[in-house]
Amino acid sequence: MSLSTSTISALRQRLQAGEISAVDIVEDLAAAIAAKDGEIGSYLSQDLEAARTMAAQADLSKPLGGIPIAIKDNINVIGHPCTCGSRFLASGYTAPYDATVTELLKASGAVLFGRTNLDEFAMGSATENSALKLTRNPHDLSRIPGGSSGGSAAAVAADLAIAALGSDTGGSIRQPASHCGVVGLKPSYGRVSRYGLVAFASSLDQIGPLTKSVDDAALLLQAIAGPDRRDSTCLNLPVPDYLADLNKGVAGMRLGIPREYFGEGIDPAVREQVEAATKRLQAAGAELVDISLPHTEHAVATYYIIAPAEASSNLSRFDGIRYGKRADAPKDLADLYQRSREEGFGPEVKRRIILGTYVLSSGYYDAYYARAQKVRTLIRRDFETAFGQVDAILTPVAPAPARKIGENADDPLHEYLSDIFTLGPNLAGLCAISVPAGSVPSGEGTNLPVGLQILAPHMGESTLLRVAKAAEIAR
Ligand code: GLN
Repeated sequence: MSLSTSTISALRQRLQAGEISAVDIVEDLAAAIAAKDGEIGSYLSQDLEAARTMAAQADLSKPLGGIPIAIKDNINVIGHPCTCGSRFLASGYTAPYDATVTELLKASGAVLFGRTNLDEFAMGSATENSALKLTRNPHDLSRIPGGSSGGSAAAVAADLAIAALGSDTGGSIRQPASHCGVVGLKPSYGRVSRYGLVAFASSLDQIGPLTKSVDDAALLLQAIAGPDRRDSTCLNLPVPDYLADLNKGVAGMRLGIPREYFGEGIDPAVREQVEAATKRLQAAGAELVDISLPHTEHAVATYYIIAPAEASSNLSRFDGIRYGKRADAPKDLADLYQRSREEGFGPEVKRRIILGTYVLSSGYYDAYYARAQKVRTLIRRDFETAFGQVDAILTPVAPAPARKIGENADDPLHEYLSDIFTLGPNLAGLCAISVPAGSVPSGEGTNLPVGLQILAPHMGESTLLRVAKAAEIAR
């Protein structure tokens, strides 16, 4: 069996049995990448020499000993580029330190070898906003992989990575996982340190795993979760054993079906697949409970005020002086700032900065930003009420399967609306996962994967993974 198609769990067994070496895995991945990544475009950079050295020295007794993990290119790995898919950082920025998740992966024995493509500064849902590369969906090369962690999802789906890290501010792990047919987990806000993740919207961002199985998602989460003094929003709570409850099944569990997530706007073929997945969990012993999350329709407007507001503030650090790009021959300081930003940022990033600056400006702050924060509280309360009645919630991930490349090029609003099902969990700080549910025919001879989204309460990752595993087994 080819090593690049394996899961972490399978490779761990074979490594420990002495059947294969960690260097064998790197060589196998290198060959797969050389053969296929030309057409898929999932990686922005690789350091296979460093990977061979890390693999040769890997301590196989550690939890991820000898396992290669791909990393989204907005997470710092010391000495390596971290482009964020932007021209701003592509010209000469090298990470001067390791993100906490990078340190933890290294301490777990993982082999870090490649950086995956993303929408510029993680703003987008298709990876088409990357200023550096086009990434294609491995199931249909004429389509997007989803985004913003599209490179990570495509690499895992095409067996060009064993597993990968992504980041999720409003769906960027779950939506590409759904579109590419892999597992993608957004941890609860505060479960995983954000230190060393280039900030997009700090009250929403979380780093999480994209994997080929639910077991692997649990293994990778186990490695990266936990308190961190360097991120004040990372909670000082012990990390449970995420594998302990994984196989306990859903018998007797109450799973909520929110009516607002199955109504208007969803592609009927997608709805059918997601409903079939919920029925399989019912057959496995869960009770399906109709619930309501009445403020769902406000999630898009709320998110697209709060996220750009935070982005406009976070991205002010890119001034042409401190990081990456610097405009040539500036007339004066203002010209240096202006032209560096004008030349360094792409159109979607500029749109967000303008929008964010506007909603925070005096006279508009109360009408937009302050009001959005109030609606955010209502959305959070919807979930709190629901979790008074159910253990977990089942929903679609995206209203439609992966669209064609270039299709919404001039319609950002349409793109924003397609995030409707993934934004709420970020606004409420919940944990959420996308697991493959089925596929729908594209009408052109390809089958497009569709994910089931499972939501659990804040810090409820054990429950989340348990339901996800049951969904995976029942499929
Ligand atoms: N698609 C959403 C956006 O463009 C979410 C992105 C993300 O989660 N990083 O903002």
